[in-house]
Amino acid sequence: MTDLKSYKNIWVFAEIDQINKTLKSVSLELLSAAKKLAGELNCKTAVVIIGQENKKFFDEFSKYGADIIYNIEDVSFTHYDTQNYFQILFALTKKYKPEAILFPSTYIGRDLAPRLASRLSCGLTADCTALSSKDANLVQSRPAFGGNIMADIICPNTRPQMATVRANILPKIILDIPTKPQIIEEHFKAIPSKVRLIKTKEDKRSEILKPEEADIVISIGRGVKNKETFSLIKEIAGKLGAALGATRPVIEEGLLPKNHQIGQSGVTVKPKIYISFGISGALQHTVGMNNSDLIISVNKDDKAPIFNLCQYGFVGDVEQIVPKILQAINKLK
Ligand SMILES: Cc1cc2nc3c(=O)[nH]c(=O)nc-3n(C[C@H](O)[C@H](O)[C@H](O)COP(=O)(O)OP(=O)(O)OC[C@H]3O[C@@H](n4cnc5c(N)ncnc54)[C@H](O)[C@@H]3O)c2cc1C
Repeated sequence: MTDLKSYKNIWVFAEIDQINKTLKSVSLELLSAAKKLAGELNCKTAVVIIGQENKKFFDEFSKYGADIIYNIEDVSFTHYDTQNYFQILFALTKKYKPEAILFPSTYIGRDLAPRLASRLSCGLTADCTALSSKDANLVQSRPAFGGNIMADIICPNTRPQMATVRANILPKIILDIPTKPQIIEEHFKAIPSKVRLIKTKEDKRSEILKPEEADIVISIGRGVKNKETFSLIKEIAGKLGAALGATRPVIEEGLLPKNHQIGQSGVTVKPKIYISFGISGALQHTVGMNNSDLIISVNKDDKAPIFNLCQYGFVGDVEQIVPKILQAINKLK
């Protein structure tokens, strides 16, 4: 039986963008959530950061409420690798016994968290969309059964409680008075890897850009019926550096991979500009994009619910409007 009382503090795994070496915004969303939970559970927040030149992020951590920073800095850890990051987190968890660990629901978080949970024989809730606390437990909420219900999941018998959390859902909250975090330097020897990373290069194709990370998202719905219009939309996205998104029926048709589905059972986006073509605006879709800064929609039905949400709406046929938009962009360029 786990001695639950010996576990304390809410940890956040801070993820660094592997290409730009910037802090992923979701790390600060998680830290804000951890701060709130730590207040409710009467404990501290801690950030675990693994990489190189991590100190440049410490001010951000203090603005968003870190009480402790576990800093693991070494040139061998510049790039993510499962074995090394896992061995570090496993050792730190054994040593400091956190009550809960929050990971971003990114490729790295999804790779690392299950491995750790499995080795520690504790539970893991994947893809949470809300976090709260009840009776000293972390309540991890996520859509279940294809998004038909919201499930609240607790792990009352094991520690740490572990969750991966979707980006762009939880608010980032800057404190009025930044914390003065205790910095704990930890040192690890890298396990030699058989894989040697020689060069990293970002693939900027719209189909590859992740909608949850892009400043501009162009989404298509069932109203985009022919392949020609779809390829023109892809061209527009390429010219604007936009990521492509889609509604569930479009994803089910196989036009784009599942990780481009926006909505309740897909990803949540919060871009500066969200452009929708032939999307009706069903609730299951709009919960995934309604926090975008600017929403522009094209739909042939002037009563489509998406028009209640967007700042700019164009009533018309995508097949006529899309080529005109592309022409206009080409003229500007
Ligand atoms: C449990 C559950 C979870 C779900 N999760 C998701 C989710 O995560 N994401 C998601 O997107 N959906 C999800 N759905 C599905 C959702 O309910 C809607 O069915 C879906 O979002 C509708 O997609 P759509 O807007 O592409 O299609 P439709 O609702 O069919 O709308 C098509 C629109 O295109 C317009 N149109 C047609 N032709 C043209 C044209 N030539 N020019 C311009 N406009 C045109 C029409 O006027 C219409 O408004 C979920 C459903 C359930 C039950």
